[in-house]
Amino acid sequence: MVVMANPATLAQLHREILACTRCVAAGYLRAAAPVLSGYADNRIMLVGQAPGAVEAIVRLPFQGRSGKVLMAWMERAGFTSENQVRRRVYMTSITKCFPGKGTGGGDRRPSRAEVELCRSHLDRQLALIKPDLVIAVGGLVHERFLPGRPLDRLVGGIFNLAGEAVSTRTQARPLLVPLPHPSGASRWLNAVENRVLLDRALRRLRPIVRGLLDGQLAGA
Ligand code: SF4
Repeated sequence: MVVMANPATLAQLHREILACTRCVAAGYLRAAAPVLSGYADNRIMLVGQAPGAVEAIVRLPFQGRSGKVLMAWMERAGFTSENQVRRRVYMTSITKCFPGKGTGGGDRRPSRAEVELCRSHLDRQLALIKPDLVIAVGGLVHERFLPGRPLDRLVGGIFNLAGEAVSTRTQARPLLVPLPHPSGASRWLNAVENRVLLDRALRRLRPIVRGLLDGQLAGA
């Protein structure tokens, strides 16, 4: 049986998130521009760290260079096209607004306080969508779902919500699949052995993704 969120309730949640200015009121951001996308029948959730500068303008997730890399990974993981990813995957992030540039030139990592301010939005998205699969992209997302482990002990694994490694045959839902951040700023993927781990993660994702896409009511 396909579980589907109430579309009206989801639309209301999206209105509330898109109107949020908590980080502005608290002095962390000059302006709020929350970014998310998704549909009530999505069974797969992709959670990133925070939108970048391009996403903040377009107001859609995963649009910039990192987004292109991630979409290529998703095609290796069983999606037929970027359009299919954007229709069949609920896309959100740990914090929903572009945090601005950091001192090193890359995007600033949202502070713990900002993550806490934004936490209830993600909690409500998860509670409403009840995804069967959560693809967790980047360190901030791993800290939320699978804390305290280095990337090379996460990528290539499949976990349950308790953080235990599970097989693809488990009935546990949602399955958590961690991926590294696709940004070129991350050096982690420069190492051959880490690219092998990414290959393994995408290979293991493929049957899960195909199964969920085939079992979903709405077409891509
Ligand atoms: S990052 Fe989250 S909590 Fe902060 S203003 Fe944006 S939506 Fe609100």
